[in-house]
Amino acid sequence: MTTTSEPIRIRNYIDGKWADEPGVKTIPLFNPSNGKVIGEVPLSTAEASKAAIASCHRAYDEWRRQPVGRRVKFLFDLRRAMEEKREDLAYSIAIDQAKHISEARGEVQRVIEIIETACGIPTLIQGETLENIGANIVGRVIRQPLGVFCGVAPFNFPALVFGWFIPFAIGAGNTFVFKPSPQSPYFMQKMCKIFSQIGLPPGVINVVNGDHEPTGAWYDDPRVRGICMVGSSPTARKIAEAAGRAGKRTMLLGGAKNYLVAMEDLQWDLFIENYLNSCYGSAGQRCLAGSIVAAVPPVYDELIERILAASKKMKIGSALDPDIHIGPVISAEAKARVERAIEAGIRVDRARLVLDGRNPQVPDEIKGGYYVGPTIFADTTPCMSLVQTEIFGPVVAVMKVESLDHALSLIRSQDVGNGACIFTQNLYYTEKFIAEADVGMVGVNVGVPAPHPYLPFGGIKQSLVGTDKAQGKDGIDFFTQNKVATVRVVPPTTGRHMADGTGEAAAPKTSAVKSCTAS
Ligand code: NAD
Repeated sequence: MTTTSEPIRIRNYIDGKWADEPGVKTIPLFNPSNGKVIGEVPLSTAEASKAAIASCHRAYDEWRRQPVGRRVKFLFDLRRAMEEKREDLAYSIAIDQAKHISEARGEVQRVIEIIETACGIPTLIQGETLENIGANIVGRVIRQPLGVFCGVAPFNFPALVFGWFIPFAIGAGNTFVFKPSPQSPYFMQKMCKIFSQIGLPPGVINVVNGDHEPTGAWYDDPRVRGICMVGSSPTARKIAEAAGRAGKRTMLLGGAKNYLVAMEDLQWDLFIENYLNSCYGSAGQRCLAGSIVAAVPPVYDELIERILAASKKMKIGSALDPDIHIGPVISAEAKARVERAIEAGIRVDRARLVLDGRNPQVPDEIKGGYYVGPTIFADTTPCMSLVQTEIFGPVVAVMKVESLDHALSLIRSQDVGNGACIFTQNLYYTEKFIAEADVGMVGVNVGVPAPHPYLPFGGIKQSLVGTDKAQGKDGIDFFTQNKVATVRVVPPTTGRHMADGTGEAAAPKTSAVKSCTAS
């Protein structure tokens, strides 16, 4: 396993080689678990992106012509290499993103499963044929790659978002420029070594580090055919505008604010276990994190007592400590933002603060880390900022709702619509919730309704700017374009004047073929 004793120097990976941009500015890379600087990240410019796009473009023609089975063999090799290095990869996520080590292992496992799904590409990208559209006319739909794709990842899923974009993109025959978040770029450094190790042809995947500057080169370059992004809704909208003006196809997954709805017949143990994972896992920094709990009157008071008791047992500390439950948030700025949201909940919203997670107790050696403990507000109402704003920390707003219909109307009124979960044993509630919750991903008795890679992942409304979701069949649709061929099948001619229709047919006339069964 890699240690952090050596400073981590994040580098771009272009054309199969490490590439540094001369004189480029750098920013420090932090370990959020203790607040210490562990390395530096280049703030690459559009020039680095241009070099990466050119490399992808050069690689594309040969890559797309590889037999599909050969392209997929690289995915099998990628999967095997990730299996072998899974602990090192998980550690890389636990270090700079400070995702708890057990969750980081889970994230790597999920990427492996996505690659396994993408290994089905020879079947998944098959087209369709319709014969006899007219006399001797066949219609055929074929799926083809487009060319160069570019994509940016958010800080909170440095591995998963690589998985959403790249295996499907390159398996289908495209090439890819990937820009990790400048807050969690370490995982992709490890992956670049794997790309070299498995002999992936140079230029099929290029990695450029930095913030938004490198993306400036993507929009006006005609070689770039599509742009993918996972991050906040404001960033998604900015990319949508620029990409829309340039006529690029986009996959843009945005922010969220997810309800957990507690009905009177919920199973308490199941609910509490899922509540803790959903609301506090990754310190609340998941796009499918529960952050509003809507409970009906018969369970409202008991729910607050129970989540309070369970939340107080959560241990807070370093992401690398297997005995803790909640690690830090990503940065000092994120910690300050979450604390401001708590302050606003108290002073502006005037909600009832049941548990205050500010300044939690942690051991001296990690005191510089960015810790916020579980925080619970009760008696919240729909207009409060606690309910309206994506806080992206372990802060929960509990609200009393009169009925399932009431909860559904609140979910419908949200600008965002990523996920929502219901806890119930009632079939009527279940089916109604699935049918009417105005979100892209619904959970029933699960707290994080993340679909398996065989199925699409994505929200609706401002949680998905545009139409295309990640992974599953949607991933195939996004990274391929349909071409439709209309073919009139005519018998070949032998004469010299075929163009004017006077040539003689070479194939024997059907009437001339003697049937074996004819008497
Ligand atoms: P962010 O929007 O700040 O940044 C996301 C990425 O975009 C980063 O790589 C960043 O460098 C880049 N970026 C920022 N401004 C840009 C611009 N103007 N042009 C191009 N690129 C730009 O998001 P974040 O703080 O890294 O991630 C947290 C957000 O991501 C939350 O809102 C969360 O809900 C969302 N998220 C959504 C999903 C989903 O599936 N819907 C999944 C994970 C995270």
